[in-house]
Amino acid sequence: MTLKQTKPKGDEYLLEVSDLQKYYPIQRGVFRSTVGYVRAVDGVSFKVKTGETLGLVGESGCGKTTTGRCIIQLEKPTGGQIFFNKDGDKMPVTASTIKSLRRDMQFIFQDPYSSLNPRMTVERIVAEPLVTHGVKNKTELRERVVELLSAVGLSGDHLSRFPHEFSGGQRQRVGIARALALNPKLVICDEPVSALDVSVQAQVINLLQDLQEQYGLTYLFVAHDLSVVYHVCNRVAVMYLGRIVELTDVDELFANPKHPYTEALFSAIPIPDPDNQLEQIILEGDVPSPSDPPSGCNFHPRCRYAQSICRQELPRLVATKENTHHLVACHFAEELSLRGIKIA
Ligand code: SF4
Repeated sequence: MTLKQTKPKGDEYLLEVSDLQKYYPIQRGVFRSTVGYVRAVDGVSFKVKTGETLGLVGESGCGKTTTGRCIIQLEKPTGGQIFFNKDGDKMPVTASTIKSLRRDMQFIFQDPYSSLNPRMTVERIVAEPLVTHGVKNKTELRERVVELLSAVGLSGDHLSRFPHEFSGGQRQRVGIARALALNPKLVICDEPVSALDVSVQAQVINLLQDLQEQYGLTYLFVAHDLSVVYHVCNRVAVMYLGRIVELTDVDELFANPKHPYTEALFSAIPIPDPDNQLEQIILEGDVPSPSDPPSGCNFHPRCRYAQSICRQELPRLVATKENTHHLVACHFAEELSLRGIKIA
């Protein structure tokens, strides 16, 4: 993979998420009484700097996609606050404000096929957000669509084609062109390459990075492939069972992980160098149910370093003593010496 990391432009925050929660009620019986909740997102807080790429990673079901969907109001959050920096004004992102923020916040879906209407031509798919936002002039619309297609490596020849006539990589390019139609500032990329062949993943990632440079975009990059995250992100938040357990700069995270779950994720990354292999840490048992999370630290039933306090007290996400930009939720973050990983 030939990939290049881009750098954030400054220290201004474009997005702030504070104590975000998304609980799904569990209903049973004839009267559909609520007997509990699935805590898909359970108190997530982070900020995204203008121009940076923040990765949200973790196993399937950890709440990373739900977090992205709540931010853009595709799911209604149960609690917490989301703020978007609109030209210097900190605007709350809610169901009632999202319409006015839609131009600035866009979403790229994981599966480019199911996210594109199979009955619409590429021209209509890419033009739809423009039409919704009041662009009516047909010449202007076509010029803008051709410009967007060219920005993502497609051409005017593709205007009249339908999604099924494209490869997976081309379909994702159409999805990206559509997401860029309104000149957004923030793009939430939900596993944008995981449904693609390995051979085209690097092309699409390079395209996203070129577009970030060209249009000054900020990305929230939801992913489970840590080697992709290493090459794409400036900072990374690791999620487990609806909470962030570690958040720091990407180089620091990979060289110096402080949470046992992060160490276990790293040990599962295949490294092509036989002299640089890590012993794989097998996580015992399944991910616990978010409807009945374990007491204390949610990770304790699977943690090889767990002690009695871990079963009783929930560790808070706090900065380590040596690095105020390295946040960890583990009672023993200062004492444990965990193994990082080198990725070529
Ligand atoms: Fe493991 Fe305890 Fe740290 Fe949780 S708090 S990650 S159980 S050592």
